[in-house]
Formats: sequence, structure tokens, C-alpha cells
Amino acid sequence: MTTVRTRIAPSPTGDPHVGTAYIALFNLCFARQHGGQFILRIEDTDQVRSTRESEQQIYDALRWLGIEWDEGPDVGGPHGPYRQSERGAIYKQYSDELVAKGHAFPCFCSAERLDAVRAEQMASKETPRYDGHCMHIAPEEAQRRVAAGESHVVRMKVPSEGVCVVKDMLRGEVEIGWDRIDMQVLMKADGLPTYFLANVVDDHLMGITHVLRGEEWLPSAPKLLKLYEYFGWEAPVNCYMPLLRNPDKSKLSKRKNPTSITFYQRMGFLPQAMLNYLGRMGWSMPDEREKFTLDEMIAHFDITRVSLGGPIFDLEKLSWLNGQWLRELPVERFAEEVQKWAFHPDYLMKIAPHVQGRVETFSQIAPLAAFFFSGGLNLDASLFEHKKLSPEQVRQAMQLVLWKLEALRQWSKDGITAVIQAVAESMGLKLRDLMPLMFPAITGQASSVSVLDAMEILGPDLTRFRLRQAIELLGGVSKKENKEWEKLLAAIA
Ligand code: GLU
Repeated sequence: MTTVRTRIAPSPTGDPHVGTAYIALFNLCFARQHGGQFILRIEDTDQVRSTRESEQQIYDALRWLGIEWDEGPDVGGPHGPYRQSERGAIYKQYSDELVAKGHAFPCFCSAERLDAVRAEQMASKETPRYDGHCMHIAPEEAQRRVAAGESHVVRMKVPSEGVCVVKDMLRGEVEIGWDRIDMQVLMKADGLPTYFLANVVDDHLMGITHVLRGEEWLPSAPKLLKLYEYFGWEAPVNCYMPLLRNPDKSKLSKRKNPTSITFYQRMGFLPQAMLNYLGRMGWSMPDEREKFTLDEMIAHFDITRVSLGGPIFDLEKLSWLNGQWLRELPVERFAEEVQKWAFHPDYLMKIAPHVQGRVETFSQIAPLAAFFFSGGLNLDASLFEHKKLSPEQVRQAMQLVLWKLEALRQWSKDGITAVIQAVAESMGLKLRDLMPLMFPAITGQASSVSVLDAMEILGPDLTRFRLRQAIELLGGVSKKENKEWEKLLAAIA
């Protein structure tokens, strides 16, 4: 019997997402339950959006949760490299193979031509898709143009009629019409593969036997299955996991719910409780108990117990479960965990330089610095009354700062200062005009230790969370304002 091998294949393009941890957990449990292996592969073919920092954050966040992998870019293994950006030659070889066998073809169409085709299709209410223009170029002619260095992508051929039957561990057989499937680009003009080619080639070469991935990928399953067929490879067994949802049932999004694992770490959740909660997403123990460890989950794991009704990721439910975990810790462990969270020398050393000059006794530290050890704050709306700005402008300024901070790549005091400065200037104001809003939002007080330093120390997750909280307290942002302010945002340097 072949060994079960599963994987998680995140793209390192932002904060480490709870959805990644959720899918990783189920892949891990499935592999362990069968005595198999769990692999981590980094899908960084999007060179513009992928960063090494984000990759590192994924490792840190998963490890913090207690998720370990047997093979991966950082631990090595016999099927490496495990980072797609280092496998360029492999994809090229397989793309060439598909073209040679007539399953794929070079496409020389310009962006203008593709736009025109799309516009025409939209006008006649057809599904926009590639019209097959370059598929009809004779292979020798196409090869000549490629050899001459003409810019091109490689597209896969797909059937024009009939249905593709996708086998899913949870849904059984799902039929998807080929008329809904485009001639997918496999290799981009820059010579890098798209997700589809790289994913199939890697899952095959890495010996992946079962793929548990989010259901947002189900509509594109036919493309992957066709590629396996073209290569003559056996496709892995597929399982499309239900997506995590906000309490209002919409797809989990950071506008409504913090989605970064680092947020939950900063808020003071216990990793075991967090992992336990992710295990409750669409799945339950045979005896329905709410609190269980990773080992217990593995021991009782059964993928068919995953239910398809969209699991709701609810902060209140998670907090309740975390409370159960905290209360059941031996008190020594509790004290240790608190220390590990934020009462360790590293964190205290960040805060010390900002409080030392402001206290006469140690006992004054806690009232001054409580916000460094808090999650959300109890805010007083009157602190946001501004000498120059109307209540609307106050909300506008804070929302613009929040949006800009959400996009800030390098979290540093200088970067944060530049953001606030740019927003102030866009409103005809000075940096110091906006500081009276930042103080209460971030520290809960009208004045405190340097708020710019505080934002740097608190980090992106808590800073954004508190700004969002303050904006909500002041009445939130209406749909109309949202539209208007997004336009202003686009104009800010
Ligand atoms: N890189 C894809 C993602 O970020 C992987 C999807 C899959 O598991 O195939 O979600």
C-alpha cells in the first residue's frame, strides 16, 4: 500500500491566515491518522506579491499552533526544493511536454486582443473565455515564432462540450460542464508557471496521495484533472473543505473578523485552544465534546465527519473555548503561559524605554502601560472630540489611516509616521493634527507614552484592531462614505 501523503501549499502573500491553519490541521490529521506524512510547500509563483517575510510568518504561525510538517523548504526532504520559485526548470520541461503532445499551445494574443474578445462576449451575454485563436496556428509555425523570441503564454486545451466528473470525498461526484472551463494559461509570458501547472506537477512529483483544500477551488478542479490525464498520471484523491465564514455567513474576511493568526497570538489566545477551535470547524468528535487536544483529534479523526454547512468562525465562541482551556491549566502552567505571552524580558525591554522616564515608582507602570497588555480597549468617545475637525472628518482621517496601515508592508515607526503624515497632508492638515486621534484609539488615553512607538510595539494586528474599534465606536463608515473615501485613498501618496 502506498503511504498517505498530504500537504498544505500556501502562497506567501500576506498575513498568515486562519484558513491556512484550518486546512493544514485537517491535512495533518488525515496524514497522521493513516501513519502518513504531511508536507509544506510554498507556492510563490506570484513573484510580485510573494515575500520571504510572509513565508517566515507562515512557518512561525503554524509552529506556534503546534502544526509540524515532515518535509518543507525549511526542514528539507527527499522531494525538494519545496519552494516553487526554485523549481522553474521542472515546470518548463512539463509545459514543453504538453505542447509537444498537442495538449497545450503557445498563445501570442496581445492583451488588447483578449480585452476586445472579452468585451464582445460580454456584450452578447456569453461567458468570457479564450476563443482558441492561437490553437489553430500550425505547430511548426508556432515553434518558429517562439524560437524567434516572440512574447507568448502557454495555454492548455480543454474539451468544448460534455461534463467533467469531479470525485470529492465529501460530496461524492460533482459534475462541472466543460463549457464553463477556460483554456487556462499554464505558463506566463515571464516563463513562470501558473498555479494550475505548478500545483499538478508538484503534487505528482512530491507523491501527494490526498489533497484537502478549500472549496473555493472546486470550480477549477476540471483543469487540474485534465492535466493529470494529459500527463498520464493518477490524480490524488480530492477533498474540498467547507470555507470558514463570518457569523453573518459571509466568507471569512478581514473586514469583519481578524483573519491573521498573529492577531490571535497577540490577543492572548492559547495555541492549543485555537487549534482545538479550528478542529471544531465543520468537524466534531464522535462524542461531540468541545474541548480536545490535537492528539485526541488525530486518534478520532474521520474525514467523513466533516459537515458541509459553512462553519462559522466566531470570536465569542473561540473566547469561550479559550476560557475553558485557561481555567483547566494547572496554575503553574497558567502563570508560565502568561509569561510566555507578554511578560517576558523581550517584550518588557521594548516597553521599558518608554515608561522609565515617566514614572517615579514601579507601581505607576501598570496604569500607564496597561494598553500594552490589552486586546481591545474600553474607549470613551468624548476623547475623540477635535478642535479643528468635524466628527465626520475624524472618522474619515481614522479610516484613511487604517486603510493605509492595512497596506503597509514594513511595520516600523517610520513607516507608520509616513502613513499618518500622508493622510494628514491629503486633508490639508499636519501630522500633529491627527495625533490627538491616535492617542485615544491606541492607548485609550488622551496622552500617554509616544503613540507612534506604541503602534510599532503593539504591531499591525492590534493597532489595526483598535483603530477599527474606535471607528466603530464613533459610528462606523456608511456605504456612501466608504465609496467617497476610497477615492480619496487612491489619491494619497
Ligand atoms: N497556493 C494555493 C493557495 O494558496 C494552494 C491551493 C491548493 O491547495 O491547491 O490556496
